[in-house]
Amino acid sequence: MSTGWKGPRIDAGQIHAALDRHADPTPAAVREILARARELKGLDDADVAVLLSCEDPDLDREIFAAASAVKTAIYGNRLVLFAPLYITNKCRNECRYCAFRASNKAIARRDLTREEIARETEIIIDEGHKRILLVAGESYPSGQGLDYVYEAIETIYGVKSRNGEIRRLNVNVAALDVEHYRRLKACDIGTYQLFQETYHRPTYEQMHLAGPKSDYDWHIGAMDRAMTAGIDDVGIGVLFGLYDYRFEVLAMMHHARHLEERFGCGPHTISVPRIEPAEGSAVALHPPAPVRDHDFLRLIAILRLAVPYTGIILSTRENANIRRQCYDLGISQISASSRTNPGGYADSQTDLHAGSQFSLGDHRSLDEVVADCLEMGFIPSFCTACYRRGRTGRDFMDLAKPGLIKEYCQPNAILTVKEYLEDYASPETREVGEQAIEDTVQKIERIGLRCDVCDRLVKIEDGERDLHY
Ligand code: SAM
Ligand code: SF4
Repeated sequence: MSTGWKGPRIDAGQIHAALDRHADPTPAAVREILARARELKGLDDADVAVLLSCEDPDLDREIFAAASAVKTAIYGNRLVLFAPLYITNKCRNECRYCAFRASNKAIARRDLTREEIARETEIIIDEGHKRILLVAGESYPSGQGLDYVYEAIETIYGVKSRNGEIRRLNVNVAALDVEHYRRLKACDIGTYQLFQETYHRPTYEQMHLAGPKSDYDWHIGAMDRAMTAGIDDVGIGVLFGLYDYRFEVLAMMHHARHLEERFGCGPHTISVPRIEPAEGSAVALHPPAPVRDHDFLRLIAILRLAVPYTGIILSTRENANIRRQCYDLGISQISASSRTNPGGYADSQTDLHAGSQFSLGDHRSLDEVVADCLEMGFIPSFCTACYRRGRTGRDFMDLAKPGLIKEYCQPNAILTVKEYLEDYASPETREVGEQAIEDTVQKIERIGLRCDVCDRLVKIEDGERDLHY
């Protein structure tokens, strides 16, 4: 299966040697790198190895401050929100950390019908979301194969509920061949996500015992095949806890650079899931290389400095307290009010966890998350404009690199959160939100744009929807 489409070559010896070579760096070396990182040009492997090797708490504070400055310079104070929609927890793979793995008898299995997918979508829309991440195990109802996924996408985009609809659908499904990626692209998806889980081949082999995903080369070549098929925006990630996080961050940099060199554009997003307990998984309960909270914050900050223009996604695996600390360090997208079991939104009154992939750390409703972000000075964004206006792949990066993307992100965040406040928010959230919008509008520097945003805010109050730049 793994012939052809080679992914990046991850040289473990080279990565370990880089980490050893830069162990115990001097404060001057760290500060020199941070000064360069603040220029928003990203960092090379040696720089990243130095930052990963730094163990001085005072310097960590400086790393966090630099990451926060870079995040604000590129993304402003906006945080994009989405909800995952799990359509099936059936799977033919044997990933030892996952409750969905084929041999696990501890969970009930279910694949959603079209009607059930539509119902889940409706609930997500009625809470106020505009973006969904479709997630699936790798086993589709017999006779349907991948058509099941393509039809699910069509169903989700087709749902209209009260004053909303899903405007961008990202997808996290198993590695495919080029032909199937072409069909996925034709379904009008936003980002295609797939996590390498671990870039360390021996650990990968220990963790993935059977099924197509157990082939490291097939899995690591997935993004090459996706981009060959014309999918511009791909999202990579590591499941932190399987192997040394420092190795994984450097390997992920190799992956990003490989895609940039081969396709002229690196990954659109990086996800940073940490292993959570999962029913029937001993590995998930006792991960081989757990990442402490402080190291988790460090790795997010270092990623932000290394790849300033790449979105970094944080899920509800993490609890509210850690999530709050991460926003400022470089996270640009978060999920909210998630369920990780198929049918979980409709069933939430009955059993929160039945058939879930892993336990969640943040159970708050979307309204609570929105209010919390606003109170912290962030503007929650439901923006989906870039992908719908063709600002994807290289075009997106060409705007992001000279710092121009903020010109779109900030006003679009304001307009979409205004819609949310009008249509879905509780009175308390609305109050904090209106104040935050007023404060943020005042900070738009270009007077013409500021006036235009104000006009559009009035139009939204008058009932117009989906206004964007
Ligand atoms: N089945 C596809 C795959 O494995 O690539 C896509 C969906 S899978 C359900 C999504 C991701 O969930 C996996 O890539 C993995 O990183 C993550 N995951 C699995 N078990 C987990 C656990 N116990 N804790 C946290 N994340 C987990
Ligand atoms: Fe299946 Fe994905 Fe879970 Fe592996 S991580 S068992 S492929 S759902």
